[in-house]
Amino acid sequence: MFELSKALQARVRASTSALLAALVEFKNVCYANSLGPESMVLTDLIWGAEQGSEAAALPKIEIFSIDTGRLYPETYDLIERVQRRYGRALRIYYPQAAAVEGWVDANGINGFRDGVEQRRGCCAIRKVEPFRRAVAGRDAWVTGIRRSQSAGRATAAPVAWDGEYGLHKISPLLDWTDKEVWEYIRRKQLPYNPLHDKGFPSIGCAPCTRAVQPGDDQRSGRWWWERDESRECGLHPRTQVGFSK
Ligand code: SF4
Repeated sequence: MFELSKALQARVRASTSALLAALVEFKNVCYANSLGPESMVLTDLIWGAEQGSEAAALPKIEIFSIDTGRLYPETYDLIERVQRRYGRALRIYYPQAAAVEGWVDANGINGFRDGVEQRRGCCAIRKVEPFRRAVAGRDAWVTGIRRSQSAGRATAAPVAWDGEYGLHKISPLLDWTDKEVWEYIRRKQLPYNPLHDKGFPSIGCAPCTRAVQPGDDQRSGRWWWERDESRECGLHPRTQVGFSK
């Protein structure tokens, strides 16, 4: 049962080692769970770590998610299924109500479609500010980004100084392929968002995410009305500053 290919076992070992090394080096480490397929893998590596195994320390990494208030119903169901599977609670951070009310008053309920600045303003309130609170006082945060997801992520470093938020950023899945992520999910029968079976490679807020055509850039279904270079969420700036190890 749950037999993984040799190549995938090697990926798991490398990612587990990267997480353990981050815990040793940075101590106070958290994982920003975006609830995508990579998140299902990382959640399993962290919460699924067996007691008595080399990876037993990994559940010390606190896992959190951000509820922007505009997620798909399927995403909320997924949170519940993940929590049930592991018997643990995801820490959920929410935007500040007054900030959301002020932004909607000024821009309209879907005003993020009126321009890049409006969209960034909405992301700043609904995602970036809660994220900033979630990582405050931490030494490092873990992300599930992979090189093949976009041109902007292709050159990301496994460990980098995140100058925007003032802590280190750990990317243990950088070299995993999309196929490997899904092989891991299927072999281990992990929960995942059913929208992935309907052409959504990347799922964020409902009004800002749509299905893509086979072969399209994985991020092309996000903020599709904007030019390519503006389409990041603010949590992963395009210019990486830092070091790798
Ligand atoms: S993805 Fe869309 S709805 Fe979500 S925070 Fe950004 S602009 Fe707002």
